[in-house]
Amino acid sequence: MSGAKFASSYDYIICGGGTSGCVVAARLSEDPSFSVLLLEAGISDHDLPATEVPSVGDSLQGTDIDWKFKCEPQENAYKGYQDVDCSKAKILGGGSTHNNMEFTRCAAADYDEWAQLGCTEWGWKDVLPYYMKSENWNCSEVDRDVHQTGGPMTVSRPHQSADHNLTLSKAFVKAGCDLGYKEIDACSGDILGFGDFPANIDSDGKRSSTSRAYIHPAENRPNLKVLCKAYVTKIDIKECKAVGVYFVLEGEKHHISANREVIVAGGPISSPQLLMLSGIGPKKHLEEIGIGCIADLPVGKNLQDHLGIVMKVAVKPGSGVWKPETLPVDVNCTTSVGFVKVNAEDDNPFPDIQFIFLNLLPYGPDARNLRKPYQHIDYNTTREGFTVLPTLLKPKSVGEIKLVNSDPFCHPIIDPHYLEHDYDVKTMVKGIRLAKQMIESDAFKSYECQLREWNLPDSPYDPWSEDHLTECVRHFAYTGYHPVGTCKMGASDDPSAVVDPKLRVRGIECLRVVDSSIMPVVPSGNTNAPSVMIGEKGANIIKTTIPSMV
Ligand SMILES: Cc1cc2nc3c(=O)[nH]c(=O)nc-3n(C[C@H](O)[C@H](O)[C@H](O)COP(=O)(O)OP(=O)(O)OC[C@H]3O[C@@H](n4cnc5c(N)ncnc54)[C@H](O)[C@@H]3O)c2cc1C
Repeated sequence: MSGAKFASSYDYIICGGGTSGCVVAARLSEDPSFSVLLLEAGISDHDLPATEVPSVGDSLQGTDIDWKFKCEPQENAYKGYQDVDCSKAKILGGGSTHNNMEFTRCAAADYDEWAQLGCTEWGWKDVLPYYMKSENWNCSEVDRDVHQTGGPMTVSRPHQSADHNLTLSKAFVKAGCDLGYKEIDACSGDILGFGDFPANIDSDGKRSSTSRAYIHPAENRPNLKVLCKAYVTKIDIKECKAVGVYFVLEGEKHHISANREVIVAGGPISSPQLLMLSGIGPKKHLEEIGIGCIADLPVGKNLQDHLGIVMKVAVKPGSGVWKPETLPVDVNCTTSVGFVKVNAEDDNPFPDIQFIFLNLLPYGPDARNLRKPYQHIDYNTTREGFTVLPTLLKPKSVGEIKLVNSDPFCHPIIDPHYLEHDYDVKTMVKGIRLAKQMIESDAFKSYECQLREWNLPDSPYDPWSEDHLTECVRHFAYTGYHPVGTCKMGASDDPSAVVDPKLRVRGIECLRVVDSSIMPVVPSGNTNAPSVMIGEKGANIIKTTIPSMV
């Protein structure tokens, strides 16, 4: 399928074969009258079958299927780490081929907020049909009115299998319910509470990525061409209309024309990069680096991400947790989830902290990156235990992406401005305290839990004081890998928006962005399922609306 023969023009050219891009390519090519070209910079997942194995998830970061982006040093965060991680997938299927497969549709209120901000027809009632269209629920105990079978992407509750004795994971849900929260279905939209964590894993125990779910069944269609290792360097724009793309394949430069539209789906770091390289972005910034500005738009602004902090808890032997050597191959290790509101005074319907429960003690990415004085003797312990990640869901700190220069191969400047806003730190500290309260509650009593403290040498503060926890958050909070928002969607007259609610780039004909970068506000949970939904809804919009704004 990635054979290098291709035509000189296609009706639709999709730049980026990630979570959203694969969905768009598969849905558009269902109509045999359209010719569709999908360009992906990374390899095909056919060439790396290990990505199908769910338990491998965590170890794919920083490998050859990762862009290995780094963020700018952060003034207010990441003090304990060597560098500021920004892992991003570079493979067909994008994040859905390389991530941890945690699956939630987030909160209904997230989408209603998008609609209120001017994104008409993006409210919960509008997006729910596209979630349902994308999903194939592989478990019996779900509400069949909203969780159907028949969509391409399989969603399971693999951890609930009788083979896995997840008593601690269940204790975590019980501890949350003992606090007065209800037991939830993480895909119901009504998510304040605790429950088990679904995963996009097939009934055969393999990862259900958008490449496996959407592209593999479609790859023999004569009207769909998928080119891997094809790096798009620029969109060809003539008289404010996208007419084609330039890309590099096997060291050679190519140009292909688009008869109908160019669709940008490079994800939240590369989509703004590609737009700016093509002359669409903040005029002043583009002129500084010698790129002529075709459309002066706030591309790269509005970068939002989740931050989490690892809490490790050792338990008595034989408590049913996994060790790396006993981790079943057909599961990810995140087994339950909680969504809480620690800022009760906030008058909004969103959870502000997500608890991710891992049925495993050693947990990788942040531990690998710690600077020497902060490495913890217990961090990579072989003891049995579990991990809880309190994660900030609605950060007030907002960052941005810029270009270093006009070289398409130069990584962009990524500056998330993590924890710039005090609200974010205070909310995370409240999340830590609530997790501690749960771990010390009756639900966990029989497991002899020992909560490990972070290693802040020479700290003058009491370990559980506000000052100490604030320092811990500023040293050890780590990306949740959910950057979004850099090609923000908004009303067609919203000056902070890059695309309108039909996903058309403002001021440019025949050009859309369809991926997680269009999210106006980061949703209250993991961003892969929302990116699948955006692919589904975006494809439908493309089929039913004209490509320029009226
Ligand atoms: C380590 C990690 C773990 C995660 N875990 C989870 C999880 O468990 N659950 C969850 O819901 N979310 C998770 N996420 C987030 C989720 O995967 C992303 O939000 C989602 O993949 C975003 O989809 P996207 O289509 O916007 O971008 P991506 O999936 O990143 O796709 C963009 C694609 O475009 C390609 N591309 C970029 N530039 C070019 C170019 N110039 N030319 C051609 N191709 C290009 C890229 O190679 C990539 O394949 C995780 C992310 C990471 C990094």
